[in-house]
Parts: sequence; C-alpha cells; structure tokens
Amino acid sequence: MDGINLAQFSLLCAALIISITSLIFTLIQQRTEKIQNKIYIMLISFVGLNALSQLILTVLHPVITESDGAFFLTKLSDCSYFLLHTALCPLFFVYVSCVCGGRSDFTVGKNLFYFWPFLFTELLVVLNPFTGWVYTYNEERQFVRQWGEYIIYGAAVLYLALSVFMLMFLWRALTPKRRTALIYFFVIVIAGVVVQLVNINIKCELFAEAVGLLGAMIAIESEDDRIDTDTGIYNRRALQNDLTSYLISRRRLDLICIKLTNRDVLERSGGEISDLIPMAVADFLRTMVPRYCIYSSAPGTFIVTALDHTSDKVKRFAELIDRRFHRPWHLGDTELMLNAVVIYADMPVRIKTVSDALYMADSPVPASVHKTVLSGRDLDYLMRRSAVENALTKGFDEGSFEVYYQPTYSISEKRLYGAEALIRLNDSLLGKVYPDEFIPIAEQNGLIDDIDDFVLREVCTFIKSGVPQRLGIESINVNLSVIECMQPGFVKHINAVTDEFGIDKKMINFEITESVAASNYELLKRVVNSLKANGFRFSMDDYGTGYSNMRAIFMLDFDVVKIDKSLLWSAEESDVGRIILESSVHMIKQMNREILVEGVETQQQLDLLKTLSVDYLQGYFFSRPVPRSELIALIEQNK
Ligand code: C2E
Ligand code: CA
Ligand code: CA
Repeated sequence: MDGINLAQFSLLCAALIISITSLIFTLIQQRTEKIQNKIYIMLISFVGLNALSQLILTVLHPVITESDGAFFLTKLSDCSYFLLHTALCPLFFVYVSCVCGGRSDFTVGKNLFYFWPFLFTELLVVLNPFTGWVYTYNEERQFVRQWGEYIIYGAAVLYLALSVFMLMFLWRALTPKRRTALIYFFVIVIAGVVVQLVNINIKCELFAEAVGLLGAMIAIESEDDRIDTDTGIYNRRALQNDLTSYLISRRRLDLICIKLTNRDVLERSGGEISDLIPMAVADFLRTMVPRYCIYSSAPGTFIVTALDHTSDKVKRFAELIDRRFHRPWHLGDTELMLNAVVIYADMPVRIKTVSDALYMADSPVPASVHKTVLSGRDLDYLMRRSAVENALTKGFDEGSFEVYYQPTYSISEKRLYGAEALIRLNDSLLGKVYPDEFIPIAEQNGLIDDIDDFVLREVCTFIKSGVPQRLGIESINVNLSVIECMQPGFVKHINAVTDEFGIDKKMINFEITESVAASNYELLKRVVNSLKANGFRFSMDDYGTGYSNMRAIFMLDFDVVKIDKSLLWSAEESDVGRIILESSVHMIKQMNREILVEGVETQQQLDLLKTLSVDYLQGYFFSRPVPRSELIALIEQNK
C-alpha cells in the first residue's frame, strides 16, 4: 500500500460500505415500487459507485506515471465519476419533490426547463474525452480542472437551491420526521462539500452524502410506522400524511373507497378468516394499482388513491372492483361472499380536505342507499350527515335538545306503569331530526355521552320534582348507549349524577340493547351488576333484532326484557311470526324476567298480546312520545 493516501482510502471505504448497507436494506425490505424508492436506489447506488471509482483512483495514484494500464483505468474511473456525480443533485431535486408528494413524472419532455442544465452538464462530461472542457491530464498524468467543471458545480448549486426552495414551499406537506431527515441531509452534505473545498485532501463529500442518505433511509424510506404489520397495507396515518402532501403540492387525484358491509357477520365466522379478508382484498386491488396506492383506514375500509387518471378510468376501476365482489373469495379453505360498497370521488374538487376524505371513509353508508357503486350526487348523504353533526355539536348551546316521554302500561292491572325518556333534536336549520338518524352519528363522534347525560339529568330533575311519584309512575326508562357503558368510570359517573339529585335509584330503569359483541359480555355484566347493586333497574331493549348469543344475554341480570316492535308486527303478518313471538315470550318467562312489548299501534295487536303472558305495553296505541307537560296532562286526564 505504498504511497496510497490511507486517510482518503478509509473515508472512501466507509462511504462505500454505508452505501452498500443502505442499498441492501432497501432491497431486502422491498421498497422498490414507488418512483421515490427508485430515485433513492439510484442516489445511493450512484454515491456507492462514485466512492468505488474514487477508491480505484486513490489506489492507482502512486503508479499512474509508470503504468499505462493504471492511467487508462484512472481515465475510466474519472469519466464514470463525473457522469454519475453530475446526476446526483438533479436526482436529489426529484427525490425531494417526490417526498413532498409533488409530481413524480419528471419526464424530460415535460420538464425541459428543469432539466436542461442537467442535460448540458452531462453532455460536457460525455464530450470531455474529445474536448477536454471539463478536465484534462498534464504531462505527469495529473488531473487538471478546466472551466467545464465550474459549470458542473454551478449546475449542482442550482439544483440544490431548487431543492431547498421546494422544501420551503412544500414544508407543510412533510411530517416532522421527514423534515428533520431532509434538513439533516442538506446540512451534512453542505458541510462535507465545504470541508473538501477547503482541503482537497479530506475527501469527505461522498462520505457525507452516504451518511445523509442513510438518514433518509431510516426516516423517509422506512415504512414501519406507515404499514400495518399483519396485512402489509398502508395504515390510516400513511393515508393522512400522503393526502396532506398531495393536497399541498396540488396533485389531482381520485379516491376510491371500498367498504365491506357484511364484515360483522363474517367476523362471527372466526378470527382466522377475518384476518385473511384484508389481505385478499388488498391482493386483488394490487392487480389494478401499485401497492403504494392501497390503504386501509379502518378495519373493513380500503382506500385506493388513483393519481393522474382520467375520470373514465376511475369509474372503470370502481366498476371492476364492484364486480369482483359479486364473486366468492377464497380464504384459506373457505369460500365466501363479501359485500361491499365502492365510493369514488375526486380530490380536491369533491373531497376538499383530508378530514373530508376520512369522513367519507368513516361514515357508514345509510341503509336507504341501495347502490353498490356511489359517486357524485350519491354522496349527498355525507353532506346531510355533516349537517346533522353540526346540529348535534351546537345543540346543547342552542338548547335544541328536548326529552320526550312515552308512557308504558301494565297489562294485568290496566294502569300506567312508567315512561321511557326519548331524546328529540329540533334544529334551527334542519328542523326535527330523529334519534334513529342522529344517535348512530353521536355514537361515532363521541357526543353520545353528553346526550345520555343530558337525558339522565332531565329525568333526575323530573323525578326530584316529585311529580312522577304523584302520578303513579314506578320508574322512568333511560336509554344507554352500550359504547358508553363500556367506558371506565361509567358506574361511578352514573352514581355521581344521581346522587347529586338525591333521588331514589329504583325510579330509574336503564335500557341497553342486546347487540353487544360477545367478547364484551363479561365487562357489561360487571357494569349491570354494580349498577343493580346500587339500586337501579335494568331492561334489555330491542329483543329480537340482533344476532346475539342467547345464553350470554340471559347471563345479564335484567328486570325487564323489551320485545322489539318488529317481532310484534311480524306476529300479525304470518304464522311463523306468531310462533316466534309466542316462543320468545314463553322462553323469557321461563327465565323469570318481566316482559314489555313495544310498538303497540292497534286494538288487534293489543288483543293478540292479551292472550300471551306479557307484563307491560308501550306504543302509539296508548300514546306517542310527548313533552313532559303533555305527559302530565295525559296521565291526569286518564285518572
Ligand atoms: P328505542 O329505544 O327502541 O325506542 C323506541 C322507539 O320506538 C322510539 O323511537 C319510539 O318513538 C318508537 N315507538 C314507540 N312506540 C311506537 C309505535 O307504536 N310505533 C312505532 N312505529 N314506533 C314506536 P325514537 O324516539 O325515534 O327513538 C329511536 C331510537 O333512538 C330508540 O329506540 C333508541 O335506540 C334511540 N334513543 C332515543 N333516545 C335515546 C337516548 O336518550 N339515548 C340513547 N342512547 N338512545 C336513544
Ligand atoms: Ca329504548
Ligand atoms: Ca326498543
């Protein structure tokens, strides 16, 4: 190793090793599909090859004067170094643009403006063996810079400046992690260049570039926090970040949202299958779009970003996806049908913000919509939904909520038994909005807690006034959202509210529906038991509408089971319906629970129920839900 500059040799070796390491790990993790990935691979390979040619130059340097072969190899290495090095800054510019979510189709034809300095400098390098404009060799075969090299430097500075400019312009499109990685890259590369400029013997520029790119691999190319480890699909956070970048860099795109609608049914068929579903759907989507365009924002919801496609093509995509869901899916050994709705909308025209996009992805499609491919006006339900959400949010300030009461009657004693408290929303813009519409929305956005609290407080105030007791009301039913019951501290909260009013707790009868995921029965049971131990009563609402496990239902200690109106109505329509109602009543009685049947609208229904051993009745036949004052008037009038 006589005469070889060892310090230079070591630094170049380090640069080479770091480049190879980054390249290998990028390839192992298969981050090769996106244009951004490809540019990264080119950058890191170019830096590695540059380090290699510099290494060759360093090793050959001592013998260059004696050996013609060494001189020839030196010329070759210099040429390859310049060819690749000249491309680094323009490539880096494209890389920054991709990371910021900007256009990635930097074809030379479209963007000649950006690329002519690059083309010109490459041309200088290619012609150099004939012209000697960039560099030459003197008598001692030593490298001599020529004017062309300064032009190449100038072009490099230009592209770096453009990159910094783009970074500043699209700063908001980047996550803090990406910002740090890019800034770090700039700082370390500029430091490397400056040191090398000051002292030509410290060849640290390539080392600095390799380290900067290593940082980019860890913070930008790595997708660990963007990918769901089980399915390998981009997660909600990746979707949010990417859409933000696209919006800020003014990309036009279409979003195709696929929502599985029978997932809950499928999940009952076993854990393994429900794990296979997302993978199967993503595999299918991958046949149409690249992997990096597929996201899953929530279980059973997939989003495809279609960049720069014509609206016709997007429509065709949506139809193709829809058609796929008319055929069965093979999951492991099982074959089953998945139901889905496919929604597509363009961004930023129809979908203006990232939260609009997530809103579309998260909002359930109303049962009234029967199409399976939705677009354009079909998406008006989203507007209605957001209007209802607005009404809910301002409802408490504007006093638009009111509690109505619907009386219930004891069938044997032919007298008033109690009343169910039902929430009403009277919005200044939308008019009357019914709970069937707004309760599911409130359950999703968390306002349900405030609503149920409001109702409970109203009922407590009513009970505290002593009027219900005077009217002969034994208890008032209050609906609870099951989601709320599962929250920690729920029992304590309910006790705190009722204690505040100092009322008799058995005057309150909580209603919860049976549609609870089986896994949560244990928790629900604890909640019900502790509230009952405190003196509250409990009813099971909507019996006969869910698909719950009977054994689990009766593990819960309910005082009353409320049979859903649909069971009563179908008993009138057919023999089968009648048998179901009769057997339900029979079974519940054997479990020693009292029974209330709701939805009694006609004398015939009443006559039918009289033949069965039910305890209480509720329905429009007796009274619709009415405001508190009307309830009082109604009861007093019937006394
Ligand atoms: P639900 O608990 O099953 O309440 C009974 C619903 O049936 C009420 O609708 C009531 O007006 C209606 N109904 C009663 N008798 C008859 C009848 O004879 N015929 C017909 N066609 N309907 C009858 P509403 O008030 O629109 O409430 C709908 C649902 O909204 C309730 O169903 C309940 O699940 C939910 N809800 C209402 N208020 C609250 C509340 O304060 N908190 C919570 N969490 N949910 C509530
Ligand atoms: Ca109810
Ligand atoms: Ca009910």
